[in-house]
Amino acid sequence: MRAQRKPGDAKRESPQTHAIAPNVAASVAANVAPNVAPNMAPSVVRIRRRLLAWYDVHGRALPWRTPAGHADPYRVWLSEVMLQQTTVAATIPYYGAFVARWPTVRDLADADLDAVLHAWQGLGYYARAHNLHATARIVVRDLGGRFPDTAESLRSLPGIGEYTAAAVAAIAFSRPEAVVDSNVVRVLGRLLAADEAPTAAGARIRAWAKLLVPNRRAGDHAQAMMDLGATVCVPRAPRCGDCPLARDCGALRTGRPESFPRRPPKAVRPRRQGVVFWTFRGDGRVLLRKRPLTGLLAGLMEFPSTDWRDRPWKIAEARARAPAKATWRRLGGTVRHTFTHFDLELAVLSGRVDGDMELGCGSQWTWCAVERLGDHALPTVMRKVARHALGHKPGAAGRGQAS
Ligand code: SF4
Repeated sequence: MRAQRKPGDAKRESPQTHAIAPNVAASVAANVAPNVAPNMAPSVVRIRRRLLAWYDVHGRALPWRTPAGHADPYRVWLSEVMLQQTTVAATIPYYGAFVARWPTVRDLADADLDAVLHAWQGLGYYARAHNLHATARIVVRDLGGRFPDTAESLRSLPGIGEYTAAAVAAIAFSRPEAVVDSNVVRVLGRLLAADEAPTAAGARIRAWAKLLVPNRRAGDHAQAMMDLGATVCVPRAPRCGDCPLARDCGALRTGRPESFPRRPPKAVRPRRQGVVFWTFRGDGRVLLRKRPLTGLLAGLMEFPSTDWRDRPWKIAEARARAPAKATWRRLGGTVRHTFTHFDLELAVLSGRVDGDMELGCGSQWTWCAVERLGDHALPTVMRKVARHALGHKPGAAGRGQAS
């Protein structure tokens, strides 16, 4: 274990080590990244070299990684889509399950959307699963099963934005693309000691990210940056003593590296409220319906509910929107769930339906045995509802006698 570098150490380094090659500085300032300070130019080569040397020893062993030049574009793309909104730890089992079940893009293209949604269950942000399936079909149907090999062409596919396109192009096809995720923003924001407003810092960081990309091993460089941010240059307590870039780090020189880059003010998350109907029959089955194929949780199954709105529901008002006539009972407690843009609070009404209820929307509605709920693509919020309802006394939730 190397000794922890003290903040002042960087200041004591010889100025000669930072000597500027005028031609490099001029190139940086004039051509490559006009808003990059010229006195950082000589660091570029050193940062690239040290980062890759560090990655060769300390890079994370992740199931979708292969030696440079041996990447399978399908697996790179799959992992990058999963990682868009999900931690590495949460992604690993889903990635393993997907490649075991659908080992090639052709297998995924042949799969039913419902099967893909079901396998995605619990990973959240289900639009990704829809786009995954749509992209697999386009790649197989229109592109002969081969992914495009440039960032620009990758962006034409569903669900592939600037970041994912750059990551796939760099990792799968060794294209010299800058891959800027939140880890990279933090590392570069610290290297540059970026304390300007987040928007201005973002422009400078992106310019530097571009500048740092090497012509060779671009994919390894991208993954090295991500790994450094995830394991060494971590948000609260960066391990500067173990950092290969400490020598060039402006934030370390200030003695308070953790305060860079400046964070945007936290947005206030709105709260929405709804009422869910736990609708059960004497045989223990509960009513499910399929959500529309567009919008939030598109195509997933749910227990019927009111709209989710920004003001509370009166129970009598909610009952008028129940899917069937029943004696509705409010179950104690509230189901809470956090989506990207809002917090949701759900009250649960439980009601037994006797006899055969008319299901108004054909195949969009179905009765499901409680033990078989796992067979359906239920989003996490609905699994919380099921746990909540089943945690109440049997008569209120459909097991055994109704009240
Ligand atoms: S020296 Fe510290 S703050 Fe600077 S990049 Fe390395 S870990 Fe981050």
